[in-house]
Amino acid sequence: MADLPIDPQPEASHFIAGEWVEDASGAPIPLVYPATGKVIGAVHEATPAIIDRALETARNAQRAWAATPIAERGRILQRAAALIRERNRELSVLETIDTGKPLQETLVADAASGADALDFFGSIAPGIRGEQIPLAGGDFAYTLRVPLGVCVGIGAWNYPTQIACWKAAPALVMGNAMVFKPSELTPLGALRLAAILHEAGLPPGVFNVVQGGGAVGAALVSDPRVAKVSLTGSVATGRKVYAAAAEGIRHVTLELGGKSPLIVFADADLDRAVSGAILGNFYSSGQICSNGTRVFVEKPIREGFVARLVERIERGVVMGDPLDERTNFGPLVSESQMEKVLADIRRGVEEGARLVTGGHRANRPGFFVEPTVFDEVTDEMHIAREEIFGPVLSVLEFESEDEVVARANASPYGLAGGVFTRDLARAHRLAERIEAGTFWINGYNLTPVEMPFGGSKLSGIGRENGWAAIEHYSEVRAVHVSTGPLDAPY
Ligand code: NAD
Repeated sequence: MADLPIDPQPEASHFIAGEWVEDASGAPIPLVYPATGKVIGAVHEATPAIIDRALETARNAQRAWAATPIAERGRILQRAAALIRERNRELSVLETIDTGKPLQETLVADAASGADALDFFGSIAPGIRGEQIPLAGGDFAYTLRVPLGVCVGIGAWNYPTQIACWKAAPALVMGNAMVFKPSELTPLGALRLAAILHEAGLPPGVFNVVQGGGAVGAALVSDPRVAKVSLTGSVATGRKVYAAAAEGIRHVTLELGGKSPLIVFADADLDRAVSGAILGNFYSSGQICSNGTRVFVEKPIREGFVARLVERIERGVVMGDPLDERTNFGPLVSESQMEKVLADIRRGVEEGARLVTGGHRANRPGFFVEPTVFDEVTDEMHIAREEIFGPVLSVLEFESEDEVVARANASPYGLAGGVFTRDLARAHRLAERIEAGTFWINGYNLTPVEMPFGGSKLSGIGRENGWAAIEHYSEVRAVHVSTGPLDAPY
């Protein structure tokens, strides 16, 4: 593999109060390039002093930021969006080095979608308003949307830049300050975002980034200065964060894992459904929370569907150097994630699912696992119940609509779902019947920023994106205005 085109080492580990900040006494966190497994740099975990400094600066900066006119706050976000778009290639190369995801993907899906979020929330800013409520006797009430204060954002490693933007954009536009902790596996993108926001005119201290793993996340979540926590991560971490936030009655948004159903009826456009299954299982090497990993296919077309799917994978996958734009399939983020996925695959084989393609670590350096399809999967199998977070698709056969709805809903998760059918009445019926925060009709994994995104059941609470996110980064203050006489009992 060729040498890296850029030096990924950031100027310092943290970004606090508008400045790069280092504290080498924090434990080193190596930067590992997933496509080679080689160490390419390091950052330091935030020490208690760094965590304190970030929270204190956020608290001090927040009041003045909240007093800045909302339209001006919006303009700063839009300027940052423009800078991100200008530098999309450089940011995408960095994201590819940080995550191992192919440049072919990061060029269109990562910094670009982060810019979309900054633009969306920046542009709707002047339109955010409260209500006026007429009351008896000429009295009335009105509502204000007020900021929460200091918000903590905690990211997963699959979309580091997008996750940081999806949290920062609604938080900042509503007048909050944020301390963001990226995943310890992907520390780079959020630092760049912080620097760009400041270049765009964000006052120092309004958006800060500190590095570290679960212990740093836990320290942030339980700090009394924090008003809200937004986590993107696993259900196990979500439980801990929710419990810690409950202690201080903090607001919480949780974007957690899933095991989403993708349902293909016999009347579907077969190639379109196969495209949906590929997008919903193998993009980002399967490291997408909303993936439709339980692919329910109606009995008459199951064999044809599997044959077409396998043919397209075996013909179309270009696995290789993620920095080569021809590559469309990259490594997993880390060795341990690769080992976990390989163990899940072995379990699928042991439990009797039919492995039809893939199933192995690729014969090359780095953390590559072949795109893997299991057929003849049943609902009780581990691979049909648990999130794998890797390139593993399970095909399950069904015979009727009621049956597939019941089986699709028989999961503790409820992040997403999708249907492929030409019967539009049925499609809309399923959108109502499938228990999920997001549902796609004749498509999959499309998450434009205008649309709310989030989970039900164990997959989370709260929503990111769209107008819905505004509600999760502000609260309503009701103001009662008396206009008539005010009677007191004595
Ligand atoms: P993870 O839960 O291991 O870690 C997520 C983040 O939480 C990391 O930054 C980690 O350092 C931090 N963390 C860990 N323990 C903590 C604690 N006790 N307190 C506070 N923070 C803590 O998840 P991951 O392995 O990074 O990401 C994969 C998971 O994320 C999958 O389950 C996936 O489905 C989910 N995910 C969900 C979405 C979504 O939008 N719903 C998007 C991407 C990923």
